[in-house]
Amino acid sequence: MNDLQIAKTVSLKNITAIAEKFGIPGKDIEMYGRHKAKLPIKFINKSKAKKSHLILVSATSPTPAGEGKTTISIGLSEGLNRLGKKSTVVLREPSLGPVFGIKGGATGGGFSQVLPMEDINLHFTGDFAAIEKAHNLLAALIDNNIQSKSTSLHIDPRTIGWKRVLDLNDRALRRVIVGLGGTSSGVPRETGFDITAASEIMAILCLAESLSDLKRRLGQIFIGYTYDKEPVYAKDLKAQGAMAVLLKDAINPNLVQTIEGNPAIIHGGPFANIAQGTNSVIGTLMGMSHSDYTITEAGFGFDLGAEKFFDIKCQSAGLKPKAVVLTTTIRALKYHGGADLKSLTTPNIEAIKKGLPNLEKHLENINKFQVAPILAINKFSTDTEEEIQVIKAFAKSKGINVAVADVWQKGGAGALDLAQKVIDIVDSNISNFKPLYQWKSPVKVKIETIAKEIYGAEYVDYTANAKAQLAKIAKLGLEQLPVCIAKTQKSLSDNPKLLGRPKDFIITVREIEIASGAGFLIPITGNIMRMPGLPSHPSSEHIDINDDGEISGLF
Ligand code: ADP
Ligand code: MG
Repeated sequence: MNDLQIAKTVSLKNITAIAEKFGIPGKDIEMYGRHKAKLPIKFINKSKAKKSHLILVSATSPTPAGEGKTTISIGLSEGLNRLGKKSTVVLREPSLGPVFGIKGGATGGGFSQVLPMEDINLHFTGDFAAIEKAHNLLAALIDNNIQSKSTSLHIDPRTIGWKRVLDLNDRALRRVIVGLGGTSSGVPRETGFDITAASEIMAILCLAESLSDLKRRLGQIFIGYTYDKEPVYAKDLKAQGAMAVLLKDAINPNLVQTIEGNPAIIHGGPFANIAQGTNSVIGTLMGMSHSDYTITEAGFGFDLGAEKFFDIKCQSAGLKPKAVVLTTTIRALKYHGGADLKSLTTPNIEAIKKGLPNLEKHLENINKFQVAPILAINKFSTDTEEEIQVIKAFAKSKGINVAVADVWQKGGAGALDLAQKVIDIVDSNISNFKPLYQWKSPVKVKIETIAKEIYGAEYVDYTANAKAQLAKIAKLGLEQLPVCIAKTQKSLSDNPKLLGRPKDFIITVREIEIASGAGFLIPITGNIMRMPGLPSHPSSEHIDINDDGEISGLF
């Protein structure tokens, strides 16, 4: 059975029954049909949230298919509930780009899924649409200001970094000219489209803690410069109020259920390279307010997702995670041990052994944050016992707790060992989370700390462009912001071809963007795609609906 077929075998509980597990009366939630609801922010209880054990699910460097963080997060939460702990999984919302592209949705897989998966993977409760509108409203206000003589802020159109967004993979929109058609149709200028998940509004929504905090951050969005080289922010266009109105529902986290009928919160979906790659602070706090254990994930490998989770999100919201579940797979280690992408299901002990240094580096990195690690081997049906033993023996030699998780085939029943190990680690109280760097350090020090300590780089090189941007950042007084480094997920380095545990490499910062609304700087290494394209045979070719409204082909 495929994911959608498995999902269809489940008879869903009414969402009010799930809300009641949180102690929230059905009448107090905002229903979006019978199986989805929004939970008003007022149900966050910060003192209760402090007592919840926050567990981050991360991964070793992934293959292009993803190594199963979402699937493991859901399965682990089911396992904890089976062991009598009140656990909630808190995840990102899927973007439509990958749904119709290559990767598919982001609602887990097999018997570890959040439901209703079709809805969550499609329009869900409209959060992405609201973010898109708020983003594009600001873009419209900018072009309107350039058009208007009487209210002009004299924005230099060549300095505007704010594009438009759309939640689809559509490479033809990467660069466009707007304002064609003569004097009544705006001033022509080059701009472009990003995918909605890459919008700064997405990053903002996911770090905001209240509507007023949201508004403050929206107002702080840096747009560009005037002809006199003065910075222009969204608040100069008085945009933040109207943008926040468009986001009034999107700010409330979404409640759904897992296959085993446990609560799941799904809220926000920022990119993991140019943004923080993890669900909203509000969503996490909502989960923590109503559970003993809160399981969450951060995009891509530990070097990208977890570092940002710890240094940006946890620092911003004052969260103290209790454990990291590091997901790895036989296929990822083989791939990082030099095996060909097409041969990853063929037994290959040698390749796994060669891939272990990648795992080793990620384990060392967890240590730097003083959070206890547990290694989860995400079991695929093609894995052999001998292959699994290689990883287990390695973990034991390093004194790391390890569990095989067969959640894809067995749901929570396949995560009991992992869940028990998580409980034991939390009970032993050995984690004492500390961030890698202080936000107040100089920008270059922050970048170098991450590059050297986490990626394993020798040093950091800056292009002339990046150096000029560092000077601009200093002039704007934004040096105290944390850094959100955009880097390939395929390698610990900034070169996607360097697999395993690369050594003696240099990280090159090509440019540094300002996301002053979200509250971070984005040093960009390599080529980062903000508007992906579709493959020649996109998943959309297999997606269909019949006369009964039954969908097929989603995964
Ligand atoms: P991540 O969150 O790390 O990107 P996902 O959990 O979304 O990864 O999994 C990526 C894809 O791999 C999904 O399509 C999922 O169904 C599939 N998958 C994950 N774990 C397994 C497994 N153990 N066996 C088979 N498929 C799996
Ligand atoms: Mg995921």
